[in-house]
Amino acid sequence: MDIKNNRTSENTMEAACKVTDDICLPDSKFPRVVIIGGGFAGLALVEKLKHKELQVVLFDKNNFHQFQPLFYQVATSALEPDSIVFPFRKQISGYKNVAFRLVEVEEIQPSLNTLITSKGKVHYDYLVLATGTTTNFFGMDSVEENSLGMKDIRDSLNIRHMMLQNLEQAAITCDDDERDALTNFVIVGGGPAGVEMAGALAEFCKYILPKDYPEYPSSIMKIYLIEAIDELLSTMSDKASSKTLKYLKDLNVKVLFNESVSDYDGSQVTTKSGKTILAKNLIWTAGVKGQFPKGIDEKHVVKGNRLKTDSNLKVEGHENIFAIGDIAAIITEQTPKGHPQVAQTAIQQGKYLGSSLLKIMEGEAVKPFEYKDKGSLATVGKRKAVADLGKFKFAGYFAWLLWSIVHLLSISGFRNRLMVGFNWAVSYFSYEKSNRVIIRNFKPKSVIHTKK
Ligand SMILES: Cc1cc2nc3c(=O)[nH]c(=O)nc-3n(C[C@H](O)[C@H](O)[C@H](O)COP(=O)(O)OP(=O)(O)OC[C@H]3O[C@@H](n4cnc5c(N)ncnc54)[C@H](O)[C@@H]3O)c2cc1C
Repeated sequence: MDIKNNRTSENTMEAACKVTDDICLPDSKFPRVVIIGGGFAGLALVEKLKHKELQVVLFDKNNFHQFQPLFYQVATSALEPDSIVFPFRKQISGYKNVAFRLVEVEEIQPSLNTLITSKGKVHYDYLVLATGTTTNFFGMDSVEENSLGMKDIRDSLNIRHMMLQNLEQAAITCDDDERDALTNFVIVGGGPAGVEMAGALAEFCKYILPKDYPEYPSSIMKIYLIEAIDELLSTMSDKASSKTLKYLKDLNVKVLFNESVSDYDGSQVTTKSGKTILAKNLIWTAGVKGQFPKGIDEKHVVKGNRLKTDSNLKVEGHENIFAIGDIAAIITEQTPKGHPQVAQTAIQQGKYLGSSLLKIMEGEAVKPFEYKDKGSLATVGKRKAVADLGKFKFAGYFAWLLWSIVHLLSISGFRNRLMVGFNWAVSYFSYEKSNRVIIRNFKPKSVIHTKK
């Protein structure tokens, strides 16, 4: 019998384990599909594969799904972290053919259909990589060591703690330069994440700072947004881009175009043109790169560290390995750079693979993946947003209302939606945010490394 401990009953702790596996999983007569990553793509796939004649195993290094578009609100104390993350076990509760295991996958051994994980080996029949991206510092070690990215809920909490600690320290110091550095914020990257972060910080400065820190004027907190090209939100329309710039300027954000950061020592930002800005708060939203376990041949990796797939999302050179979401790149004449790395692409690819996987397994021909662009939205502070919906391009209050509804409906879990909705309602009428408490002491990476 191909099992450990002689446990075969479905009722024993998830039944039986295959001898070859280090990770205990239910015994199943169906093919095993392992999905690495429960982001937008991985979860959309799980939803499609539930109750199918497949054994679905979801691996993630966290036990929760993260709603990345609202990270900036956690960073600026507008929302608490648990309202935008959702436990996988709650999500899959009642899905009899789906198992979740909290592991980090370290290596793929395609010739053996095996994964090496932080908890040991496990085999797969079909593998789906939905591992998303990580912050790309473009090889600038000084920036990576001293700044903060925003790709994980912990990053958002680090930004929140860095900001609150620095504002407290600014009230203590008698040194003017030190105070400037502590209260200056530099955000790098004029995409949606950078723009939304800059808007939220500017509102914090306008409405919260005078109440919480009466000892200094709100003009003490300066917010810089650095963008390498000559426009913001470059993937959206010109109207969205120019309106965003106007909204940010109205909020006193200093936007620097055609500038890129070349060095950062933790106190001073230096740009390629030689400009310097004193700032102990640097938030990096200027780029991402694909992340996936080792084991896939370099020749299948394209720009941005993404995996080249065919139009059915099968990774080039592999018959039973697929990639979906930010990590996947279907390179065609129409999409020479792959599809946009946004939540809609990830969800649509997860759903597509969920609908076609059984057919692909049977060797049936399936239609290629087709992306339906449902439009783009970005918000700049409260009551202002920009929207590009096909030929309808608009900005202002209705764009913001639409942004709020779309985001509220997209959050996983009824309780989370309720919490976010309640927080937004309170802040709509009062500009009040969550309690701004320093629960843990944030230390920059450079300080931690020096102490080792
Ligand atoms: C700050 C920010 C704001 C954004 N705003 C928007 C927005 O407004 N609109 C929009 O459409 N998109 C937005 N995006 C982009 C959007 O979040 C991504 O396109 C989307 O999350 C991609 O989904 P995914 O499933 O491919 O990857 P992710 O959602 O990144 O999920 C990847 C999962 O894989 C897991 N994982 C990774 N490696 C391993 C491993 N080795 N082992 C185990 N688990 C692993 C991770 O823990 C994670 O759960 C934003 C992104 C950021 C960072």
